[in-house]
Amino acid sequence: MRQKIVAGNWKMNKDIDEAMELVVSLEQYRHDFSQDVKVILAPPSLYLANLEMVEEPFFELSAQNCSHHDYGAFTGEISPAMLHSMNIGYCIVGHSERRQYYHETDEMIAKKIDACLRNHVRPIFCCGEMLEQRNGKHHFVTVLHQVEHALFHLKKDEMKQVVIAYEPVWAIGTGVTASSDQAEEMHGFIRDTLINHFGEELAAEIPILYGGSVNAQNSAELFACPNVDGGLVGGASLKAKDFAQIIVSAS
Ligand code: PEP
Repeated sequence: MRQKIVAGNWKMNKDIDEAMELVVSLEQYRHDFSQDVKVILAPPSLYLANLEMVEEPFFELSAQNCSHHDYGAFTGEISPAMLHSMNIGYCIVGHSERRQYYHETDEMIAKKIDACLRNHVRPIFCCGEMLEQRNGKHHFVTVLHQVEHALFHLKKDEMKQVVIAYEPVWAIGTGVTASSDQAEEMHGFIRDTLINHFGEELAAEIPILYGGSVNAQNSAELFACPNVDGGLVGGASLKAKDFAQIIVSAS
């Protein structure tokens, strides 16, 4: 059985008091959460240490980005080696905001994935097409290229550690969600791409999350799709009640 995952990407939001308040508020719903759904929180990196101190956490932690180097003179960066030393198990890699605003290329993303894997940090690899690409019917080829460049060089035991998030760029933070048919169609395509390259057994194990304006109203329908294994949630992960409902809807 594939792991169901609901991950909250807080992006650059909340001061430390608000961040800790959100965790306390979410905690109140923890008895509604199924053991079968892994909850991951991706706060700003500055707060990872604070959240790491929470006792008996109902969540695991993820960074939102990392360097592809382990250590060295790279001012402002944090590395997967450092994340691992802090027991941070996950790192989002290749988010469309990083591709768009920080000019991350497929080559850089592949190096970050390698750095995560050699340091025992599981990458949450984001892929997804822009609106023009979907309108031009290039969405499958776009996502195929992203997946090929980021993942096809990995060995099978490395690939097993990867979580994929399909996040159509036109749906991120826009309030426009992919329909469940659109999501399932692309998730099925990504799964088939993995089957062709890595084989059926391994492909069946890889969680593929949907991201893009997931909210408490639409999550159940999206997560009911056979190839949608949970979600990567931005805006709605900042509100405890909504995020808790999204987590519950994944079980
Ligand atoms: C995201 O940033 O990964 C995301 C999916 O954001 P939102 O849920 O706000 O669209």
